[in-house]
Amino acid sequence: MEVLIPSRKVPVLAETDVLVCGGGAAGVAAACSAARHGASVALIERWPFVGGMATAALVNIWHRSDREKMVIYGLVEEVTQRAQKRGWATQYPSFPRVHETHWFDPEGMKIVLQDMLDEAKVRTFCYTAAGEPLVEDGEIHGVLVHTKQGLRALRASIVIDATGDGDLATNAGVPFDFGREGDGKVQGMTMMYRVCGIDEAKVQSLPDEDKQRMMTEMRAASVAGELPPYSPAFSLWHARNRCIPNMCPVAGNPLDEEELTRLTNESRRYVHAYWDWLRLRVPGLERVVIEQTGFSLGIRESRRIRGLKTLDKEMVLGAQKQPDALGHGIWMIDIHDPKGTGYTTWMDRNASNMVPEGQSYHIPLGICLNEQIPNLAVVGRCASSTHEGHSSVRVQTHCMVMGQGVGTAAAMALESGKPMHAVNIESLRKKLRADGVYLEEVPES
Ligand SMILES: Cc1cc2nc3c(=O)[nH]c(=O)nc-3n(C[C@H](O)[C@H](O)[C@H](O)COP(=O)(O)OP(=O)(O)OC[C@H]3O[C@@H](n4cnc5c(N)ncnc54)[C@H](O)[C@@H]3O)c2cc1C
Repeated sequence: MEVLIPSRKVPVLAETDVLVCGGGAAGVAAACSAARHGASVALIERWPFVGGMATAALVNIWHRSDREKMVIYGLVEEVTQRAQKRGWATQYPSFPRVHETHWFDPEGMKIVLQDMLDEAKVRTFCYTAAGEPLVEDGEIHGVLVHTKQGLRALRASIVIDATGDGDLATNAGVPFDFGREGDGKVQGMTMMYRVCGIDEAKVQSLPDEDKQRMMTEMRAASVAGELPPYSPAFSLWHARNRCIPNMCPVAGNPLDEEELTRLTNESRRYVHAYWDWLRLRVPGLERVVIEQTGFSLGIRESRRIRGLKTLDKEMVLGAQKQPDALGHGIWMIDIHDPKGTGYTTWMDRNASNMVPEGQSYHIPLGICLNEQIPNLAVVGRCASSTHEGHSSVRVQTHCMVMGQGVGTAAAMALESGKPMHAVNIESLRKKLRADGVYLEEVPES
């Protein structure tokens, strides 16, 4: 069944050089970079705050090291420093010998990211979901949004789709891929949450054999179906107040709102089922309360927009370098079971799924641009990649590398009057380096 929408005149809410749709890690980086390079920028975000998965889904670990040295700087470094200054980010003790370099407080990150947008004079519209893109003659001219005042248009010369799901690009007719080869399923999702009320001294004084036994019993209860599926990224050794366990997986289609609602509620129930079980059995956990669950279910993968280039497993594991590099990527092929068992390839880290120690791959501009619409770019987890390539480049620091690169390229395109794919790549590199981006070993184009 279909309904017919009559044509109508729609008032313009704002007109800018660059419109960024989606205020996750990638979108904020893109908006700030474009604005700092002279473009007028608006960012629209459907939720009440920016940060995306980093804030709404409580995903709070950053990966910046090639296991010998840090290779991701630029805006990522700036955000880290801003957060550290306010006590909202902490460096890993193992720094820089593991990929994970910092964890942060998602609540503080809402402020850090919004401060950066405000200082760069990015007009931010939260509570505003991007709807239909305005496409004419192979170009995008803006999007329609539903506001409290009614339907409105936002117009722009360049649109950056940072929705994570590639909503704009898809509706504008750019092709995309979804899920893995074979069964078309995307990575599993996870409800992140924060606990408090742990008697840390009591839990940590338990003999290791007892902790191990209880974790084994918990796993057995999960396998027996008495407890929900469980991702062993959490253990009693990590039981600290305000910790954010990555523990409760579910699987399904994140683009089906009814299914997503069911999975979100189901995963919240999982969180309580686990802690009800632990509270009764583990000394020191008797008074635990769930302080907060994610405002949103954590979504890892949905549409991957088809771009001028596609990042694949070989490019990641082979630490391949690219002439149109925007920065470096270091994360592994990290796939959470699309069937929702909680298994992740992270549990079996080895040479077959990790970038070699001390090496990194390049994140190219080509994965953010497409053949169909030259003034539309995508950044973040919806960029062009295979299911495997995506599992590496989806992490926040890598999404911010894309955002910073594309935001800068957008400002350059406007200044030069050329499309983004035709900006002088050497000049782009120069600007990125001047802005603190680590960008080494770039091959001749
Ligand atoms: C459980 C879990 C654990 C993870 N662990 C880590 C980790 O430890 N470290 C790490 O770096 N990464 C991790 N990741 C991956 C990482 O968090 C995401 O891939 C990354 O945050 C994606 O950033 P993004 O900006 O592309 O998209 P998102 O963070 O998804 O942001 C997209 C934004 O766009 C908004 N939006 C969507 N549609 C619209 C629309 N139509 N109009 C307006 N706004 C819209 C959303 O509300 C959101 O704010 C994890 C992911 C999950 C789910």
